[in-house]
Amino acid sequence: MKKITIAIDGYSSCGKSTMAKDLAREIGYVYVDSGAMYRTVTLYALDNHIIQQDGHIDEERLRQEMKNIEISFQFNPERGRPDTYLNGVRVEDRIRTLEVSNHVSPIAALGFVREEMVRQQQRMGQEGGIIMDGRDIGTTVFPQAELKIFVTASAEIRAQRRYDELTAKGEACDMQEILHNVEERDYIDTHRDISPLRQAPDALVLDNSHMTIEEQKQWLLREYERATL
Ligand code: C5P
Repeated sequence: MKKITIAIDGYSSCGKSTMAKDLAREIGYVYVDSGAMYRTVTLYALDNHIIQQDGHIDEERLRQEMKNIEISFQFNPERGRPDTYLNGVRVEDRIRTLEVSNHVSPIAALGFVREEMVRQQQRMGQEGGIIMDGRDIGTTVFPQAELKIFVTASAEIRAQRRYDELTAKGEACDMQEILHNVEERDYIDTHRDISPLRQAPDALVLDNSHMTIEEQKQWLLREYERATL
């Protein structure tokens, strides 16, 4: 069967990656979490004091150091999804903290960061047979994707999901802080100059506010089958 490209975009914490990785496993496609790449650049910038305490980003230094940031993925059979590596070191847990979430959107708004990430993402998708999730996958990275999904859910429901996820990992967190982070990222992601989060005109919209993970999975599988008929 022809291997297609599947682009899944949408707001923060709306369960894109859960549905994307489940489908990828079921149909034997490669799954790429593009948000993990922006998070990894952010982690590098935090670790190397390129982001200062007050949030200021030393853009010139980051531009120069982009060549030192090597991002890779390695499938983790225990989690059923790829783990993220920065220069050969596993950073999967470190990129999911609220600290990284709080700084990632301004980093992802920088043109030179996006250019480099998009270049790497397009290279990963050259052969097709890929599911990638993010904010600009159907609009910028793979505008020719055969199946495009735009996922949305209310900010409160998304914040609750993120809260449950972080608490399950044992990270102390505050619901109001998470809701603020979700809303702030939505704002920056939809208002930035380069590749803002937008629904591609040919994307199918999925509001999963009141859907279970299983229902989303079935919905996506049906759409995949329809797209490959
Ligand atoms: O998907 P996730 O929430 O992990 O993404 C983290 C951040 O990375 C987003 O809030 C957004 O600022 C940025 N991002 C992006 N373009 C993508 C994927 C993520 O700008 N394709």
